[in-house]
Amino acid sequence: MSTPTTPQQYPLQTILAAGLEWLYDVCQPDDSLLHGGSPTYHCFNGRKYYFAPSGPGGRPVLVVNIAQPRYEDRPGRFGSEHVLANPLEKTELEELTAVLEKMGRRVHRTWNGHPSETGSVLLEDFPHASLVSAAFRYRSGCPIHRSVFCSREKGCSWYADGHDKLVQPDVAKHVQQQAATTTGE
Ligand SMILES: [Zn+2]
Repeated sequence: MSTPTTPQQYPLQTILAAGLEWLYDVCQPDDSLLHGGSPTYHCFNGRKYYFAPSGPGGRPVLVVNIAQPRYEDRPGRFGSEHVLANPLEKTELEELTAVLEKMGRRVHRTWNGHPSETGSVLLEDFPHASLVSAAFRYRSGCPIHRSVFCSREKGCSWYADGHDKLVQPDVAKHVQQQAATTTGE
C-alpha cells in the first residue's frame, strides 16, 4: 500500500486571487473544454476550495469543503448519532463573503455552511465569456461521436485534448506575488 501524501496547501488569499482571476480575467482557447470546475485547492485552514463557473442562473460558485471531515458518535434522542465533529464555522460563509467583497467581487447569495461540511458562495458577476464557452463546448459533446463520454481508452482524444488546452488557475504565480508583497517589495 502506498502512503497517502499530504496535499499541497495554500493561503486562502492565494486560492481566491487565482480562482477569481481564472473566472473573470483569463481568456480560454477556442478549442478548450471545461467539465465541471477548477481543480480543488487545499488551504492551510483545513478547508479545500474549488470554483465552478456554471452555478444557478449562470453565476459562478465558490465551494468550500472541510478537508478532513471527522465524525463521532454522540448520544441522541434515538440512541447514538453519527455526527460531524468539525463542521464549517457558524460565520464562515459570511467571512468568506467579506473577503471576496474586499477583493472587489460581490456575492449574490450563499447556501449550506454550518453545521455542514460544505458551503457554497454564488458570485454576482458572470464569468468570462470564453470560460462559459468552454463549458458549453463540453456539454455539446464530441462533434464526431456526439457524446461527452469520448476517451483515449475508447480511441477518441476529444475530451483529453480539449481539457489539456484549458488554462487552469495560476496558483503558483499568486504564491510568488504574495511572497513578494509580504517581504515588502
Ligand atoms: Zn469522440
